[in-house]
Amino acid sequence: MISPSLQPIIFTDLDGTLLDHYSYSFEAAIPTLDKLERLGIPVIPITSKTFAEVSRLRDQLNNRHPFIVENGAAIAIPKNYFDTHLDNWLDQGDFWICPNSKPRVHWNQLLSNNAQAFVGEYETFTSVVEQRGYKGLQEITGLNLAQAILSNERNYSEPIHWLGSDSSKQAFIKTLTNAGGTLLQGGRFLALGDAVDKGAALSQLTNIYQTLNGFSGMHSLALGDSGNDVSMLEIADSAVVIRSKTHDAPALGRQDNLYVSNLYGPEGWTESVSLWLKNF
Ligand SMILES: [Mg+2]
Repeated sequence: MISPSLQPIIFTDLDGTLLDHYSYSFEAAIPTLDKLERLGIPVIPITSKTFAEVSRLRDQLNNRHPFIVENGAAIAIPKNYFDTHLDNWLDQGDFWICPNSKPRVHWNQLLSNNAQAFVGEYETFTSVVEQRGYKGLQEITGLNLAQAILSNERNYSEPIHWLGSDSSKQAFIKTLTNAGGTLLQGGRFLALGDAVDKGAALSQLTNIYQTLNGFSGMHSLALGDSGNDVSMLEIADSAVVIRSKTHDAPALGRQDNLYVSNLYGPEGWTESVSLWLKNF
């Protein structure tokens, strides 16, 4: 049993965890999401998605809580959610933004200051849109126009389309790493940004709740399905690995308070959260 003096809180990945890998549906989780809201247990989306994407999605989810975007690069907190706000938060429309990363413009500056030797070997989403418009972005991403526009709405990293040789790419990565950047290789693009992760953002938001809501203690549950979830799955008080049809479960160091779902995606999410709720 978990001490009744602890405030429970849930941090959940979206794609392949709360959302079905193929259809992006969360229908199977709706009754459990409603129950958590009635119980006063916040559900915090924590994802590689952008502010633009998650702010749309949370309306569909009927979620009124803070959320964490771009793999921990920033926390978005609805205004009036807490009675007060902290000095380093930025005012952005209906939200306070607590940034953990330098903004995207910084990473473009880092490129122009440090990557002259590689001119012609790469293009960025920013340069493609400047030179060839969203049509150019559609060509390199394979997305439709609406998706291409949305994919460019990131605030804390710059996607890079590499055109040169592999050996030159390694030299490029080394140069920018030495200049203070972190490069992540995705399926099609390199992303240049700060060294952020979901685990650090989970701790940070838990501390914000304790400071601003005066909770004496909290019990966090993290749910995720893949490699970029490992940092938060290791650090949360309880962890759930959601089984995936497309890849193996990520390996974790912990054994305690760890559950691996039998079902996939939102069905596995509901199965695991229902079991966890029996601890209270
Ligand atoms: Mg996922």
